[in-house]
Amino acid sequence: MNLAFIALGSNLADPASQIASAFSALDLLPETRLTGKSGLYLSAPVSEIPQPDYVNAVAKIETGLDPFGLLECLLELEMAHGRVREARNAPRTLDLDILMYNDLVLIDERLTIPHPRMHERLFVLCPLLDIAPDCEIPGIGRAADLLPALSGQILKKMAD
Ligand code: ATP
Ligand code: CA
Ligand code: CA
Repeated sequence: MNLAFIALGSNLADPASQIASAFSALDLLPETRLTGKSGLYLSAPVSEIPQPDYVNAVAKIETGLDPFGLLECLLELEMAHGRVREARNAPRTLDLDILMYNDLVLIDERLTIPHPRMHERLFVLCPLLDIAPDCEIPGIGRAADLLPALSGQILKKMAD
């Protein structure tokens, strides 16, 4: 089994329930078990397009899927939650990103692991640290050590 962390985000159609439903759906993926759920956080959108705040969370899973198989399942889950692909950084019902997959470092045109922007996003690192306080990001360093540099970002905890 492989250990992976997934970032969940939503800012449309009752975001908190989208996230709750995505946690359940991750547990139902083939060869996959949900083994950790962070709290829910509220963050301001990073976009030129005016849109509602995001609800963010991180999930820990054990999976027999390989990274590309996992990505395919996540893109299907986004579609099943009504995601319509529009402009970059457009509002969405559900966004699921692979943050890490074991200690893999992968750079491919379809998939980059660790997620290439995770280390600069407080809305990813805070929920990640909830469920993996000692987390080491391959090629980057300890997640906890990245927080001071992100002190300008605003994040509100909604629920455990
Ligand atoms: P960001 O990646 O900055 O968070 P985004 O999540 O809004 O932006 P999307 O439009 O959801 O970007 O995804 C575009 C593509 O990114 C996906 O179709 C997928 O092929 C690719 N991708 C590359 N690396 C990853 C990853 N680690 N997890 C999920 N998708 C990835
Ligand atoms: Ca994303
Ligand atoms: Ca994405």
